[in-house]
Amino acid sequence: MKKIEDYIRTIVDFPHEGIMFRDVTTLFADPRGFRMAIDLMLHPYAGIEIDKVVGLEARGFILGGAIAHQLSVGFVPIRKKGKLPGAVISESYTLEYGEAIVEIHDDAIQEGEKILVVDDLLATGGTAEAGIKLVERLGGKIVSTSFIIDLPELGGRKKLEAMGKEVNVLCA
Ligand code: IMP
Repeated sequence: MKKIEDYIRTIVDFPHEGIMFRDVTTLFADPRGFRMAIDLMLHPYAGIEIDKVVGLEARGFILGGAIAHQLSVGFVPIRKKGKLPGAVISESYTLEYGEAIVEIHDDAIQEGEKILVVDDLLATGGTAEAGIKLVERLGGKIVSTSFIIDLPELGGRKKLEAMGKEVNVLCA
């Protein structure tokens, strides 16, 4: 049987020279690959109470939507600045070059709700950390975080674990 890694391709020099981009669209496009990814991501949460899934733009929407549907809970998007139509709260974080801002609707999560944060890939952890901060500012409790890929040399997992967050990944 093929493994998750077998469905993911690497694109050299995207989006910049020297970057090896892990492209999960080939995993999403394959019926067995996508099914396996969602099933494996769900596995640690059997019997665990989760009120909402939060997905990080953009591939976190594809995974998070499928996971939320399987758990029969709501889905909340965290988007890049300026994309959400309602009132938002924002968090900025540092990128390799410059800064990025992510936002969440200020009424998307209620005090005490148990939240699973989902994205495709964990690199430095900056995006996930900003997402976690947004959820916690609204009073949400992070149950866990889930990614397909971890790039351990970039330290994201250590960063989230140092914040006391559980990190689940399918491949590193
Ligand atoms: P971080 O904030 O440094 O952890 O970067 C993670 C974010 O950048 C996630 O939202 C990913 O979707 C995106 N990202 C960074 N590198 C890659 C890659 O090689 N493939 C797909 N997404 C990536």
